[in-house]
Amino acid sequence: MNVFIVFAHPEPTSLNGTIKDIAVKILKNNGHEVKISDLYGINFKAVLDQEDFASRKNPESFNPMIEQVNAVANGTLPQDIQDEVEKLKWADILILQFPVWWSSMPAILKGWIDRVFLPGVVHNMGEGKVYNEGLLNGKKAMLSFTTGSPQELYSSEGPHGDLNEAFRSITHTIFEFAGLEVMPSFGLYGAAMRSEEDVKMELEKFKQVLNSI
Ligand SMILES: Cc1cc2nc3c(=O)[nH]c(=O)nc-3n(C[C@H](O)[C@H](O)[C@H](O)COP(=O)(O)OP(=O)(O)OC[C@H]3O[C@@H](n4cnc5c(N)ncnc54)[C@H](O)[C@@H]3O)c2cc1C
Repeated sequence: MNVFIVFAHPEPTSLNGTIKDIAVKILKNNGHEVKISDLYGINFKAVLDQEDFASRKNPESFNPMIEQVNAVANGTLPQDIQDEVEKLKWADILILQFPVWWSSMPAILKGWIDRVFLPGVVHNMGEGKVYNEGLLNGKKAMLSFTTGSPQELYSSEGPHGDLNEAFRSITHTIFEFAGLEVMPSFGLYGAAMRSEEDVKMELEKFKQVLNSI
């Protein structure tokens, strides 16, 4: 299978970096093809703005979605977005690897979604091509994340509430909206509070997840 890992941590030697490296190693060992976008490493532009559209449908007033539709149709996307789109089209499985920041993904990863999950590439809302008809239908996606807070705080009874519920804003209204089949998330909770041994045990669980792909 072709696996596309989007890695969003500013430090390559971080725990998230280790998890990404483990994924690459195991997936390759198991015969899969792997491509990575290290968003901080490539200094990925995180904001969708007018600069993305050198050739505008409407130069008078900036409507981001209309310009996205136009750029996809005319092949005028900037190269950094085009590179990501090609990896997305190539992939059978998309993995987003990130630390949880403010119970969400880091801004650079949200910016990747804003700029790469394009109309005409992942959905075509005007023609009803969303959810089961989404343009990424047939592909799968998974979240792999770490948190500072322990899992009890992110349980349905805990003060933060169930993180997997909060992440439906990604798994349902982004992934499933685009037609992607959602794989179970891998969450390594309470990263900073765990002993090294404990982290290693969690990493073993992640390896099992990867081996099941
Ligand atoms: C802006 C911001 C907002 C945040 N918001 C939230 C939030 O809303 N909710 C929340 O829960 N947390 C939050 N955090 C905390 C954040 O989620 C954690 O700091 C992050 O998930 C830890 O991942 P890391 O890759 O940075 O870990 P690292 O700091 O790199 O590592 C964490 C620990 O893992 C162990 N470790 C690292 N590598 C290995 C290895 N190879 N083998 C064994 N052990 C290892 C070490 O003990 C290390 O101390 C926030 C942090 C920031 C900066």
